[in-house]
Amino acid sequence: MSAIALSGKELAAAIRAEAAERAASLTSAGTPPKLSVVVATADESSAWYVRSIARAAGKAGVLCDIVDLGPEATPDDIRARLAALSADASVHGIMLQTPLPEGAVLEDLAGAIAVEKDVDGANPLSLGRLAAGLPAFAPATAEAVVRILDEHRIELTGRHIAVVGRSTVVGKPAAHLLLDRNATVTVCHSRTKDLAAVTSAADVVVAAVGRAGLLTAEHIAPGAVVVDVGTNPTEDGGLAGDVDTASVTARAGALTPVPGGVGPVTTALLLQHTVRAAGR
Ligand code: NAP
Repeated sequence: MSAIALSGKELAAAIRAEAAERAASLTSAGTPPKLSVVVATADESSAWYVRSIARAAGKAGVLCDIVDLGPEATPDDIRARLAALSADASVHGIMLQTPLPEGAVLEDLAGAIAVEKDVDGANPLSLGRLAAGLPAFAPATAEAVVRILDEHRIELTGRHIAVVGRSTVVGKPAAHLLLDRNATVTVCHSRTKDLAAVTSAADVVVAAVGRAGLLTAEHIAPGAVVVDVGTNPTEDGGLAGDVDTASVTARAGALTPVPGGVGPVTTALLLQHTVRAAGR
């Protein structure tokens, strides 16, 4: 058996096309949608990600302003800039890129992003609203997980889904979104005892850990669906997921590729959220 590849590329293209159409009509009506990405790091893979967002935004007709505060920025500098962008009527979406400088805490600083401009769901109020079933932007990566499963018509209701990782940007919001879709969700983390026993009992496994190849065939039930969120830089300049592709492909029923799975959908959703915010 060889797992079906659950590509995110076609879905991402469709989301980008819809965003581009809405961006064009907003621009001709005098409200060009604008995303501001606040960066305070010299991290190379972060810079690569931000450039890819800017490229995708450019193609979709969404203005993208990269606000580079440099790795020396203090938490107060970052908070002040987020507050200023929140008050700027020409800005519709705000994203705070990670990693952050020593001592800066994403969940704390992101509280300065106006909820209606919080297109990557980083403000704790957005996560709270999500958990309470109220309208809010979900973190784009967490939403991408659900959108990819929907795109490939994977049933969620009543299925047992193991989410590996409990970060506020991926694991926790993904668990809430999947719970809202009537899945039975188990959230695993670094203190989970016998991870393989938990994940191999699941119909769907979502890997959001940040450790290349952590999940191997022993973690996956035969025929299960696996969503690999991990983007771990490899020595040759490529990307590896959290799933050991060779062994899991032989056991799973379906698997998202890295790259080309969750990543492109995440970027497309950021643009979709920004045009939605601009349209309000
Ligand atoms: P994170 O904040 O570092 O969280 C990692 C989570 O994995 C934590 O909850 C941690 O548990 C858990 N974990 C660590 N080692 C484990 C182990 N051996 N067994 C089980 N759980 C373990 O990372 P993140 O920001 O959520 O990102 C996760 C991955 O997704 C990374 O590779 C990141 O690059 C990728 N990512 C991709 C996209 C995309 O667009 N494709 C976007 C965002 C992130 P504890 O809580 O106990 O420490």
